Parts: sequence; structure tokens; C-alpha cells
Amino acid sequence: MRVLVFGLLLSLAGLLVATAGIAGGPPPVGSRVISEAAVDGAVARLVAIHGPSQTERIRRGVTQVAQRWWEEDGDEAAFAAFCETSFIAEPSALAATFARLERVLEQIDGHLHEVRRELLTPSDLDTGPVTAADRLFADFDLSVHTDDDLFKTKVAFLALLNFPVHTLGDRLVQGGAWSRETWARSRMMDRFAERAPAAVLQTITEALARADRYIAEYNIRLDRLVTPDGQRPFPEGLRVISHWGLRDELASHYGEPDGQVKQRMIRRVMERIVRQEIPVVVIDNPEVLWCPETNEVRPLQGAVVPKGAMWSEREPDRRYVVWLDNFHAARALDAYTPTAPSAITRSFETERQIPEKEAEALLVSVLGSQEVKDLAALISRRLGRPLEPFDIWYSGFKPRAARPEAELDRIVSARYPTVASFQQDLPGILGRLGFAPDKARWLADRIVVDPSRGAGHAMGAVRREDKAHLRTRIPATGMDYKGYNIAIHEFGHDVEQTFSLGGIDHWFLNGVPNSAFTEALAMIFQDRDLEVLGVAAPADSRDTEALGALWATYEIAGVALVDARAWHWLYDNPDATPPQLREAVLGAAREVWNRYYAPVFGIKDIEILAIYSHMVSYPLYLADYPLGHIIAFQLGEKLRGPAFGVEFERVARQGRLTPDAWMKGAVGEPISTRPLLAATRHALAVAR
Ligand SMILES: [Zn+2]
Repeated sequence: MRVLVFGLLLSLAGLLVATAGIAGGPPPVGSRVISEAAVDGAVARLVAIHGPSQTERIRRGVTQVAQRWWEEDGDEAAFAAFCETSFIAEPSALAATFARLERVLEQIDGHLHEVRRELLTPSDLDTGPVTAADRLFADFDLSVHTDDDLFKTKVAFLALLNFPVHTLGDRLVQGGAWSRETWARSRMMDRFAERAPAAVLQTITEALARADRYIAEYNIRLDRLVTPDGQRPFPEGLRVISHWGLRDELASHYGEPDGQVKQRMIRRVMERIVRQEIPVVVIDNPEVLWCPETNEVRPLQGAVVPKGAMWSEREPDRRYVVWLDNFHAARALDAYTPTAPSAITRSFETERQIPEKEAEALLVSVLGSQEVKDLAALISRRLGRPLEPFDIWYSGFKPRAARPEAELDRIVSARYPTVASFQQDLPGILGRLGFAPDKARWLADRIVVDPSRGAGHAMGAVRREDKAHLRTRIPATGMDYKGYNIAIHEFGHDVEQTFSLGGIDHWFLNGVPNSAFTEALAMIFQDRDLEVLGVAAPADSRDTEALGALWATYEIAGVALVDARAWHWLYDNPDATPPQLREAVLGAAREVWNRYYAPVFGIKDIEILAIYSHMVSYPLYLADYPLGHIIAFQLGEKLRGPAFGVEFERVARQGRLTPDAWMKGAVGEPISTRPLLAATRHALAVAR
């Protein structure tokens, strides 16, 4: 699961590195110093040397260099001299230069990754107590200066002068006719497309870190909530983080006699948070009782209360202050990402590689579907009551347990008493999944199983000579079923990583289009964990999975739309105050609700879609969740069946094309919600 987090961090880093638009103030460090006249002069000189047939390439290359050339790189004379000596006209010399860049960058990134893995070993692996030296080394990261150094040494400028930087639009229009090498050259240039001053990146990192801390400390004492008539329905000690803990707690009370009381209370808490009506004194405070319905606060009996505490003082829009900080930091990057000059463009076009309009159309095809309406009717029937707004988190679609968990624990712990026993069985697991023996051996030789401190994660290799690492936790009593389930998911990541790196023709194409794809492929492994264990899965699990997936996609698709709308509003209103942002976000939440949820729930003007903490601490990330569900379902349909091993390898070895091109190669059509909706229709027809 950790890979998801890695993906998230990479994606945030990309969002940041990809960005620039300074509003007012002195010109920032890194402002452009090359005049139009200098560009024209360099172009004319190169055309004179290499002939007019090269004019288009020359103009493009010289402009790309000029856009990223800073004062520290030299004056206009140095710029002209660099262009003149570094332009490559001969195709074979160009190919040799590309090959050299690919080889060297694989070694640089690969070795730095291996050093980093070693530095983090004591914190990642169960190697005994973490020492003072371990903790200091964990902060040591050689890779932070790599991109800077590529510009300082002018390697980056050599690439910019000779190879085109593509936008997503270019790839969508031209990519169908490209060779693998053209794709690889295009991917290489993503790395050099953005050059931002360290100060701009630092501001973004700091804003994100502040947002992270704000969210990490935002706990609600459910055990201190009271109803208007004085009841305290939650057990002593129940403290949950917003929004994840609130949502999970809400979802856990289906099927209980007093479940609705608790669920309504949590909904009210969420509304108080997004409206910033929540009394600031109740946040993570065990000393006070709070009635979310009336918003009254009083000291817990017997607790010492600070004198003069302002019981009714609301949280002063801090949620939106933090959000605005992220916006201003990200916007400062816009000027340094000429091919993707906004945080929204960077998120959709640079990171996700799906145009925002197209992503939105996919989400809307679920949000407005008849299948969602029919599914809502089924949920209402099962609950025996009309739906309430919090039922967007209905959690009843769980496959029936195949066996009692204790029995599964026994099977798993007998088979995998140690890390070594899991390592030894990798070829066996792959064989049971449907990989040919020689392929299973090839994969198993490239994956190292390590004892993890945490729940487990997959760490792919970066150099093709290196190996992927599968981190799993095995207690002294042997592996348990939960650990096994996670290990199979992480194993799926490692197998994908091994094919998409070790089995690929061009290193620059290693990987998959974005984190939704890597999660989808890992999930396909995880879904088959019982089968691999030799235990039959329940017969209706596929139908139940479809119903659960559609409802989860419906819920999170609306949340993702609210996030994107809020960012568009920010770009339209860059000088907004925190209260103005608050009202805009609430307005977007109501608007999305009224359009796609009110017709299903029969209730208008609900604001709970704004509760997701990602909006505050992981800007513009939310769309990856519904897209992930959609992609996972579409791929799952294709990979089910006897050719699993061969097909998995084929799709994983396509590499980092655009999602659209990758999916066409995988299943013969672009990303589509059709398989998810069709599976839901089938499941609805047989569901009671
Ligand atoms: Zn994962």
C-alpha cells in the first residue's frame, strides 16, 4: 500500500517541480535573461551553418534553451556560443547523444536510489533499534541537487537544444504514429521541461508540510460528543482523525440499532468543520464536551478548564488559510513551467496525463448514470429507509468471508513462518497465478523479500541491474492473513515494476502512466490472494465487488469535482481571502451535490463533499481515486482468464505512454467506465 503513498509524493513533487507566476514584487531568482534579439541571432547563425532545412528544429531548440536560461548560466554571448557549439544536425549523432543520456541518467538515478535505500534501511526494515546515526542518515538525500546540477553542467541545455519538449496535447495528437524511441525521447524531455528556483520549490515544500501538520493534528474526540438530550453515544477513548477516521467510523455503524444516531452526529461534525463553525476549543481536546447539533461546549465534569476560555469561539478559517497558502506557493511555480503554466494543468496534463475535460467526462459518466440511481434504490431497500446524505459512505458491499479469519491465519502461518519461506515460494505463487515457469523464475530472481517494520511496501528498482524489494511483516508466530493479503498486493507492484523496468526497451519509458495504473495492477494480484492460497473465493464476490466499486466511485468522483472547481475558482480569484475561499468551496460542494446527488438522495444543499482532508494537504490529488477504480475495473475485466501471466507481462511492458495510449494497447480502447457500469448492471439484476 505504501506505493500509493510514494506515488502521491512523487506526484506532489512533480506538481511542484512542474510549476511558476509571480504576482508582483521584484523579479525572482531565475528570471529569464535572454532577449528576443539574442534568440533570433542564435537561430540565424545556426541556420547559416546547418542550412534552412533545420530551421524549425533550430528555432524550437534555441527557444527552449532561452526559456530556461538564467543569469547564473552566463550572458547572451555565452548563450549564443553554447547554441552554436551544441546543436546537433546529424541524425546518427542525435541518436548517439540520446542513447548516452539514457544510459547515464539510468546509472545516476539508479545508484542514488540504491544509496537512499541503504540510508533508509534501519527505518524501513526490522533490523533492531534505530540508532542516532540511522536517524541522521535518514535526512541525507544526495538526489536533491541532481536536476540543478544537470542545468549547471549544461547537460539539460544540450537536451533542450536538440530534443522537443512535448505537451500532453502533442502526445495525444501525434503519439499514435510515434516509434518507441520517439516516445522515449519525449519522456526524457519531461525531466528538463521545468526549471524552478530552489526558493520557489522550498516555499511549496514548506506550505505542504504545514498543511500536513495541520491535518495530522486535526483529531476529533468522538467520546466527548453529546446529543442535545445529553447522551454520549461513543465509547471512552475514541479519538479519530478528520476526515478519514470520521468517515471510517461512520461507515462502521451500519446494521446497528443506534447506528443512525452516531452517523447523523458525525455528519454534523463534518458540516461544522467545513463551515468552520466548529468551536476551536474542541479540536483534539479531551477536557470539553461538545454538542455538534447545537454547537454548545462545556467543560467535562471535573476537568480543569483554563480561565476565560472562549467556549464559543469558532476555528478562524484556518482550514482555508492553509489551503490558500498551498495555492500561493503552487502559483509561484507557474512562470517556470511554460508548457503547463498552472497547478491544475500540471496535475492533469503533466502528472496524470489525462486532459481535465476528459477526466471530468469519465467522472460525470458515473455520477449521472442510471446504474447509480438503481444501486441507490437497492441500498435504500437493504437499509429499509430513505437514504440520508451520509449514505454516500454506505459500506455494505463486502464479499462474504470465505473462511473464518482465524482459519486463514492458521493456513498462512503454517505456509510462511519466515521471510525466507515467502521468498522461496515466489515462483510457486507466480505459477498459481498463471505465469510460465521460466517467467516465474526470471521474476523471482529479481525480487528480494525483506522483513518490514511497517505493514509492508514495494520498492521497485531504478537501474535495470538492480532488484525490486518486497517489504513484508512476519511476526515470530508466522505470517497472518492480513499480512499475506498486503504482501500479495505489494508483490503485484513488484512484478509490474520488474516487467516495466527489466523488461523494457527504453529506460526513459520505464513504469506505467500514473499511480492509478500501478495500483490497479497490484489490486489484480491482491484480489486473487485466496485462490493462490488454494482457498475458494465466495461465488458472488465479483458482483459484490462491482456494486461496491461503483458506489465508491460515485462518492469520490463528486469530491474530486469539488476539489477541481475550487482550484479553478482560486485561479479566477487569486487575491481571495480565507472567508471568500470558504464560501466558494461550500458553494462548489452544494452545486456538485445538487446536480449529481440531490436527484438520488432527494435532499438539496448538502456540503459534506468538502470534508476531504486531501483538498487541504494533497492539492488536486483526489481525481486519482475514481480514475483508479475505473481503470482497475477495466483492466481486471481484460486480465481475468487463462492468459493472465502473458497478458500481465504484455500490458506492463508497454511502459510510460499516455494513459490513453497505454489503455488502447492493453484492452483495445481508451479509458472507459463501460466495464464498471456493465458489471454493475449484471450484479443489480441478480441482487436482492
Ligand atoms: Zn499499492
